[in-house]
Amino acid sequence: MGPSKKGSRRRESARSAYRRGMTTTLAVLGSTGSIGTQTLDIVRAAPERFEIVALGASTSVKELAAQAIEFHPRVVALADASRAAELKAMIPPGVEVLAGPDALADASRDASMVINGVVGFAGLPVTLAALGAGRRLGLANKESLIAAGPVVARVRSTPGAELLPVDSEHCALHQCLRANDNPARVAKLVLTASGGPFRGRTRGELAEVTIDDALAHPTWSMGPKITVDSSTLMNKGLEVIEAHELFGATYGIDFDDIDVVVHPQSVVHSMVTFTDGATLAQLSMPDMRLCMAYALEYPDRSMVSFGAIDWTSLSRLDFELPDHHAFPCLNLAYYAGRAGQTAPAWLSAANEVAVDAFLNGLMSWTSIADVLSAALDRWPGSVADSVEAVLAADAAARDCARQIIERRAA
Ligand code: MG
Repeated sequence: MGPSKKGSRRRESARSAYRRGMTTTLAVLGSTGSIGTQTLDIVRAAPERFEIVALGASTSVKELAAQAIEFHPRVVALADASRAAELKAMIPPGVEVLAGPDALADASRDASMVINGVVGFAGLPVTLAALGAGRRLGLANKESLIAAGPVVARVRSTPGAELLPVDSEHCALHQCLRANDNPARVAKLVLTASGGPFRGRTRGELAEVTIDDALAHPTWSMGPKITVDSSTLMNKGLEVIEAHELFGATYGIDFDDIDVVVHPQSVVHSMVTFTDGATLAQLSMPDMRLCMAYALEYPDRSMVSFGAIDWTSLSRLDFELPDHHAFPCLNLAYYAGRAGQTAPAWLSAANEVAVDAFLNGLMSWTSIADVLSAALDRWPGSVADSVEAVLAADAAARDCARQIIERRAA
């Protein structure tokens, strides 16, 4: 018997042991979006590992009903209460329907693990409910962590609560940070950025770009809002704040210790440099399902491979510094992150309004950074000591951004 056959037998027996392991009960909120549908792909790939107990979406009734028919959850949640009857008519009998603004958060409480793939600030109640109930949370909704960092930090200490980032960069950092026992030996977090579709363009060239140009991401397939954020590098800026929230306190990392490097191949997902000069990186082909599966199986690893590197086709890895002049959103995020309190909430909310205005053809791509810079100038310096304070900052920032956009259009 050759060694490869022996190896494959060992793997087979490990696989069947794994299949006999515990089933994780799972709530997937934002189940019809990009994160949600990919999470359900992982469940399809290892159906014996997961039981879907709750699915939830904001408004996509048809897609949600189709998922309920396939996965038979105990509960489906719909944020848009006006369409609850429509949903009820389409799903199997016996599946409970929750509807209304609290439905997604309520649906998260019965599962041992919650995937929060809700888009935008609407994901905050899900984050707070899941961590507050002591659940393991796979967090793809970075806005909730960025906007309400101090509030989320409090529920993170709930017994049983565990936050696993479902974001390729932070998942990579999480994996690299596990390699060392002493948190004080972490010197730098290095986030990689693909550079988006406009990498290498000058500020002048960027004045002419269209909505379609901004939506054509070179390596990742994601929803429209995050794809535009990737084109402005605001996504990376928000990820810097996210990294600071996730790892700053534990590893003594401040904003000066978080670097961004442009890496167009998106194979190195992020890196950690330790005090002895060693840098650890996590590499895989771009496939979000790897970090979803990592979160789902942590502290173990998935037996299903996503994004393994084919070294016969990967020939080079490039790195360059970001162009801050052409992509001013990155520095705006560092500015808001250093200001702390409600400044990240303010920036994130204003950004949602600005991106929406761009996607609706109301303003140019370069206007996004201009609007955000003007909006940050008007940040009132409020403290993020409660959900209400964060919600108030979020609402005020949206009004502020809308006013700025209207004034520019007039
Ligand atoms: Mg990312």
